Amino acid sequence: MYRLRFHGRGGQGARVASKVLGTAAFLDGYYAQDFPLYGAERRGAPVAASTRISEDPIMERGVIPEPDIVIVMDETLLHDPLTMPLSGLKPGGIVIINTTHSPAEAEAEYKINAQVLTLDITKIGLDMLGMPILSTLAGGVAARIVGLSEDSLTEAVKNVLSEIITDRKLLDKNVAAALYCFNAITPAKMEIKTTETVKKKSTVISLPFEPAEVSSPAINATGNTPLRMTGNWRVFRPAWNYDSCTRCMICVARCPDGCILVNEDGYPYTDYDNCKGCLICVEECPTNTLGKVMEVHAKKMIG
Ligand code: SF4
Ligand code: SF4
Repeated sequence: MYRLRFHGRGGQGARVASKVLGTAAFLDGYYAQDFPLYGAERRGAPVAASTRISEDPIMERGVIPEPDIVIVMDETLLHDPLTMPLSGLKPGGIVIINTTHSPAEAEAEYKINAQVLTLDITKIGLDMLGMPILSTLAGGVAARIVGLSEDSLTEAVKNVLSEIITDRKLLDKNVAAALYCFNAITPAKMEIKTTETVKKKSTVISLPFEPAEVSSPAINATGNTPLRMTGNWRVFRPAWNYDSCTRCMICVARCPDGCILVNEDGYPYTDYDNCKGCLICVEECPTNTLGKVMEVHAKKMIG
């Protein structure tokens, strides 16, 4: 059995990635489970989703505390001590990171003791879909790693996305992007012994307790919210240009996180330590004076 965990941020598509993978596995004739784990449901919040794939009926339930493969869809999560996307990864397992780094650079940067594969999935998403939604792309990468077929991946993307979107062109772009990622990643050889331990066990199904940081959102101390700087959630940030700003304050009112403040001259500005990059302010600005700038490694940029 393969046990995979996807880690991303709300809105990136970790849940759909796990579903695409599970569906592709099913279409290839395997048994499969896929399911998400949310904490607070808001854009940018850390999200995990899991997929189990097996030739035999899957008797396990619950979250996957010891995955064979981890897909990190947002590199900044590796800096987050409360998310810990690599927790429980089996020795000899595989980590796939969405990053501009090479595998050697990522291994050194994050001190990872596992096989590391890297792909700049965000860039592929922006180039091929025009947006940083990575669900089908991450599903394509994972499908290649576990040895599924292109045909099943294609069908799985169509099946899963047709439940969510009606835009045929966008669906076709997602199929193309998933296949591009499928072929862009070089599969690694898994060095762990998987499943047979499960098969040899009795029919009693064990539901182990997971540590809180895996099984639920964790509040580790009172008043720690100000310490969680959500500025490292951003892929894009709002960029200010006061030339045509009328100081209407619509952006201030619309920001869901209260991250737009007003300076002494009455102009709004962003608290970049906490702005999560949802870009609602950019959408709502009636004069289009607010723009956006990409920043994949937001954490480093906000220092
Ligand atoms: S992008 Fe704009 S609306 Fe969204 S959190 Fe940042 S300042 Fe607020
Ligand atoms: S919504 Fe646009 S015009 Fe209005 S205050 Fe904000 S930036 Fe200025």
